[in-house]
Amino acid sequence: MYILVVNAGSSSLKYQLFDMEGEKLLAKGNADRIGIDGVLEHQVIGKEKTATPTPFPTHADAIKKVLETLVDKEAGCIESIDMIGAVGHRVVHGGPWLTKPTLVTEQSKADLRKCLTIAPLHTKGHLEGIQGCEEVMPTVPQVLVIDTAFHSTMPAKAYTYPIAYEVAEKYNIRRYGFHGTSHRYVSAIANEYLGKEDSKIVTCHIGNGSSISAVRGGKCMDTSMGFTPLDGIIMGSRCGAIDPAIVPYIMEAENIPANEMGNWMNKKCGLLGVSGVSSDMRNLRKAQAEGNERANLASDILTYEIKKFIGSYAAAMNGLDCLVFTAGIGENDARVRSEVCADMEFLGVKMDEDKNLNYRDLPVPADVSAADSKVKILVIATNEELVIARDTAEVVEGLNK
Ligand code: ADP
Repeated sequence: MYILVVNAGSSSLKYQLFDMEGEKLLAKGNADRIGIDGVLEHQVIGKEKTATPTPFPTHADAIKKVLETLVDKEAGCIESIDMIGAVGHRVVHGGPWLTKPTLVTEQSKADLRKCLTIAPLHTKGHLEGIQGCEEVMPTVPQVLVIDTAFHSTMPAKAYTYPIAYEVAEKYNIRRYGFHGTSHRYVSAIANEYLGKEDSKIVTCHIGNGSSISAVRGGKCMDTSMGFTPLDGIIMGSRCGAIDPAIVPYIMEAENIPANEMGNWMNKKCGLLGVSGVSSDMRNLRKAQAEGNERANLASDILTYEIKKFIGSYAAAMNGLDCLVFTAGIGENDARVRSEVCADMEFLGVKMDEDKNLNYRDLPVPADVSAADSKVKILVIATNEELVIARDTAEVVEGLNK
């Protein structure tokens, strides 16, 4: 079966086409600037990437162009769109309503619409992407694969915020967690590597957005992101968890309205805000090499906060068998991994620095822990799209049984 994985945002629609026989990625791209001017970035794997100005006023127009490109004799990789057996949609927020991969039906769309109150921008994009696919490929089953789903196993003490219970209930305010597809993927690989039933794993998804999860026996017990992806550790331009009293204090002092304050915490803080240089770790490293003290501070906060989460999750799980690093920074920045794991022998964490630097030479999953480390330290490349394709295939195969 061929599966199209779609990640629809408010003005973009990213896609990957998989041949599930051998789980082969065939093509990927992004219909960007939907409703603005429109650019179609497209790449058949193994060939050059192209970027073509292509007007698409709506998500349906964008998906139409993507399908035309996929079947194009020159630029494409399949003969007919009838070969696409299903579409898997990445859904950022399922709220309390969507907690597992779910077929798109009137009921699941109604559940997704409820998420508009909690995550308006992302949900609007998803709904438009789904509608676009329904218009263009009405007979092809579509599946929602939800980022918050993996975290739905958290106990109440982990997901309940200590605010007035009635208010939390009224507005569905609780810890939901994000990057669930990634945490699920890497923790499953780690679990298999450990070969242990009640394994205690901390997964560190450190990228532009970052989150850390405590996974015990394959189930998520706690995670650092919360009601929104703003909670948790310092990120590229997001502040993560801060003293909540800071927010009304700044709003009053600077006369800032709520939406602008939200934007400020999402776009102007984090590594960017502290360093004044960039939200991008590579730029921060360059600034550090030039002796920029605030870039050093931003980097120190990042490793310190990751360390604190690892310590608290080890305490919450009564132990630690494995630490996993993944995503842009987790996979590529050996220094972050090294600094996080430094001085953690008390927890049984001991890194092999040489392996850490050259982890790509190691068999997958790369084990960069020292021979006498009680805790395994793994670097695992995440692959959220493949998980979405797998989940979609499973749901669709279930329909045919
Ligand atoms: P997103 O959350 O947008 O998916 P990614 O997981 O792609 O983000 O991570 C992006 C981050 O990874 C950026 O801060 C980028 O600088 C960092 N990154 C990518 N490659 C490297 C590298 N070689 N060294 C250090 N950081 C890197």
